[in-house]
Amino acid sequence: MRLSRYFMPVLRETPAEAQIVSHRYMLRAGMIKQAAAGIYSWLPLGYKVLRNIEKIVHEEQQRAGHIPMLMPTMQSADLWKESGRYDAYGPEMLRIKDRQDRDMLYGPTNEEMITDIFRSHVGSYKDLPMTLYQIQWKFRDEMRPRFGVMRGREFLMKDGYNFDLTKEDALHAYNRHLVSYLRSYERMGLQAIPMRADSGPIGGDDTHEFLVLADTGESEVFYDSAITELKFGDRAIDYDSVDQCQAVLEEFTQRYARTDETHDAALFDQIPEERQRVARGIEVGQIFYFGTKYSESMGATVADETGAKVPVHMGSHGIGVSRLLGAIIEASHDDKGIIWPEGVTPFHCGIVNLKQGDAEADAACQALYDALAALGLEPLYDDREERAGAKFATMDLIGLPWRITVGPRGLKNGVVELTSRRTGESEELPPEAAVEKVA
Ligand code: ATP
Ligand code: MG
Ligand code: MG
Ligand code: MG
Repeated sequence: MRLSRYFMPVLRETPAEAQIVSHRYMLRAGMIKQAAAGIYSWLPLGYKVLRNIEKIVHEEQQRAGHIPMLMPTMQSADLWKESGRYDAYGPEMLRIKDRQDRDMLYGPTNEEMITDIFRSHVGSYKDLPMTLYQIQWKFRDEMRPRFGVMRGREFLMKDGYNFDLTKEDALHAYNRHLVSYLRSYERMGLQAIPMRADSGPIGGDDTHEFLVLADTGESEVFYDSAITELKFGDRAIDYDSVDQCQAVLEEFTQRYARTDETHDAALFDQIPEERQRVARGIEVGQIFYFGTKYSESMGATVADETGAKVPVHMGSHGIGVSRLLGAIIEASHDDKGIIWPEGVTPFHCGIVNLKQGDAEADAACQALYDALAALGLEPLYDDREERAGAKFATMDLIGLPWRITVGPRGLKNGVVELTSRRTGESEELPPEAAVEKVA
């Protein structure tokens, strides 16, 4: 992409309404524009990162054997009346009447709708196990929408639902989700720690939230610092193996890590003092086993091996796709701007032409552009007639992992300058060598 032909409305001033760094940088880099409180338009740069995050989530869910689908954002209130949640949900649910005076709502979550789909089409244990998921917009009329996309009212969520014959099978589905979430967050360059969370009125303790440590996080968390040394990495996993998935769950949940809702001071005190941590975190996902709560109230049953009708065991599992942009920036930035992890960066490399209009510099930039594109990489070429300082500031703000700077002086010696956004280190090298490093 040539910057002169792109739409990236960078702001010079820091918008007064933004209280935290990720919100400030997303506005300044022209990634989002607020349309109403907690509702955003995704401008091209923000949209690109959003799509990259979605892609990782899709790939990892399908790797785990989960099936993608899509449900509408607008729902009829009928199903919610059936489950009993229409009254219970409260003012976070946006309720709407259509022209026939029917009660509608903008879905805050989809347990009812997916359970209805399941009961309409599945009748036998032979069709199980089954996990369906979607990535779809949700609406929650949050009391305090704030921090940009972190706590929006309209936000993008991956929500998945497992249907299983037995509790054991459903817990395997739970573990599959835990593993696939660990992989997803790591691919986004994030450490998200599974922490025991509160299951609310449903009861039981089969729920974990995934938290990214950050001072601006809204959750208070308590953990054993040893947990931050765990990495899933690129180890092979067989998602059909109950033992393998269970082993990962045990490994990643054996250390103390809880949100304030489930915090147990006596247990916490048993951790060696130098490893006790009290910090703040951003909830970027949650997995939940809730048994037969919806299948019983909504009659989602299957015939088991004996022919008897039994309610299915279910769980629901969410990832905050749009919130993740904020979380990634909170975890990866400096005072000049964003530092995108390679896995989600909107462009792989920036090309800065120090002397636009100089035939040699223009040709060298174009050649670099073509060479990177030929390797399947997407460069962003700053071909504007701007001073070098402004071009560097923009590149630093939008945080691409690499910048290649091209100017007549270097070209006389056959070199360009390659700069790593993360380390700030620069080196001079021939253009072909720069391309090789970026790739
Ligand atoms: P929170 O505690 O932050 O209100 P939640 O527990 O109500 O979140 P879930 O129902 O668990 O949210 O939804 C799954 C994921 O969706 C959350 O882990 C979070 O990452 C994301 N999410 C929830 N509410 C919002 C929101 N208002 N804006 C952006 N993302 C959100
Ligand atoms: Mg909430
Ligand atoms: Mg929560
Ligand atoms: Mg939650």
